[in-house]
Amino acid sequence: MDETFDVAIVGAGPAGITAACVLADQGVKVVVFERGEYPGAKNMFGGVLYGRCLGQIIPGYIEKNCPIERNIVESRLSYLSEDGGLSLAYRDRAFFEERRNNAFTVGRAKFDRWFADQARAKGAVIVCATVVTDLLRDDAGRVTGVKTDRADGDLRAKVVLLADGVNSPLAALTGFRPEIRPENVALAVKELIELPEEVIDERFGVSPGNGVTCEILGNATLGMNGVAFLYTNRRSVSLGIGANLADFATQKVRPYEMLENLKTHPVIAPLIKDGKPKEYLAHWLPEGGFDTVPRLCGEGFLIAGDSAMMFNAPHREGSNLAMTSGRLAAETILEAIERNDFSSSGLQGYAKRLHDSYVLKDLKKYRRFPSFLETHKELFTSLPRAACAAARDMLTVDGVPKKVRQSEAWKAIRGQVPPLRLLRLVWDAWRSVR
Ligand SMILES: Cc1cc2nc3c(=O)[nH]c(=O)nc-3n(C[C@H](O)[C@H](O)[C@H](O)COP(=O)(O)OP(=O)(O)OC[C@H]3O[C@@H](n4cnc5c(N)ncnc54)[C@H](O)[C@@H]3O)c2cc1C
Repeated sequence: MDETFDVAIVGAGPAGITAACVLADQGVKVVVFERGEYPGAKNMFGGVLYGRCLGQIIPGYIEKNCPIERNIVESRLSYLSEDGGLSLAYRDRAFFEERRNNAFTVGRAKFDRWFADQARAKGAVIVCATVVTDLLRDDAGRVTGVKTDRADGDLRAKVVLLADGVNSPLAALTGFRPEIRPENVALAVKELIELPEEVIDERFGVSPGNGVTCEILGNATLGMNGVAFLYTNRRSVSLGIGANLADFATQKVRPYEMLENLKTHPVIAPLIKDGKPKEYLAHWLPEGGFDTVPRLCGEGFLIAGDSAMMFNAPHREGSNLAMTSGRLAAETILEAIERNDFSSSGLQGYAKRLHDSYVLKDLKKYRRFPSFLETHKELFTSLPRAACAAARDMLTVDGVPKKVRQSEAWKAIRGQVPPLRLLRLVWDAWRSVR
């Protein structure tokens, strides 16, 4: 390619487009390569975006027709056994009013396209249907641009930002991110189920435009370390489920079997009844946490978002970490342009910015969480079974005195999870999130 650019970005997801917006705002010549036919064509996620993060990049995003599906006013958490479920929900007036758009659902095909259009309007060039296949390097090994699958394929740039998502062979090529291990990623599948808008309003008890998220734990993943979700869109719901890739390999369960099983569960089935399956998608999720975040910059390049394994699993936050890391990468690049220093040490400000921000602080806080889940499989097997059996018995009114019921329930729990194991679980849980 003949044209020259200051910055080449790989990937038009939340990380890449955020960086492109910040750079283009300052008049930097920036190009984004996206392998999809259009931004979002190849992307899927659960559906929740965070307004504050987006507002920092696109102030007034509501007036600029951001394709919001529903504003989230209630978050539910359900712990399922095979036949029942304990649920907790939180709804707050603030999420209808002053904290409206704290979180909202979007579809990636529409959102990514809209977000990329905002970057274009600021002056960024977005080149779609183009795969970056390699990094160009000079004799000293410094990254000097990208190689693409286009006929006129090579493009030189002062600095390259890798924002190409979790399955990033380019990050591996830098030598910074080792081959992904199955225990550090989850495989998730999602079905988009169409329902009339007013049916969703009624089933979830919300007024038009408002919505609910449900996180689903326990037996839903058929004994594997994983989680399911059900999020409301305007005229559809997203039902998804994912589990650790290492567990899929050992347990020989197929992802779609898990999803089909979940659709028949008594807590879920009434919420999706008579819905029409519209889309079925699968994607990886980085789940290794803080200890799998690679070195974040080298000679002539930086890594952001999922490509740098930035996903906060306990809070299901990924898009915001991607946007914030994209923004901090862009701010570092602006400084580097001013100093004309794109060396590893010239870009170190990026790592410092990330360490000072909530991104790495949160990942660090939860660094023990992945191993906690890995070593406490009873969370997905015997514990939900015992908890739901206890709830079922305590709620059965049949003339048995409550004291007897209580001691039977406790006996059943002890039968499934011995008291010492239970104590250990509580202690490890506390240590993994404190
Ligand atoms: C099932 C599931 C549910 C999730 N739910 C949520 C949620 O509700 N809320 C939330 O905040 N996060 C959620 N996440 C995480 C969130 O999707 C990611 O953290 C976020 O999308 C990361 O953004 P990114 O820009 O780093 O990467 P991506 O969004 O993956 O974007 C990377 C882009 O790079 C492109 N690309 C890749 N390789 C190349 C190449 N070689 N050349 C050119 N282009 C390339 C891809 O096509 C893609 O457009 C979920 C993820 C999954 C899988």
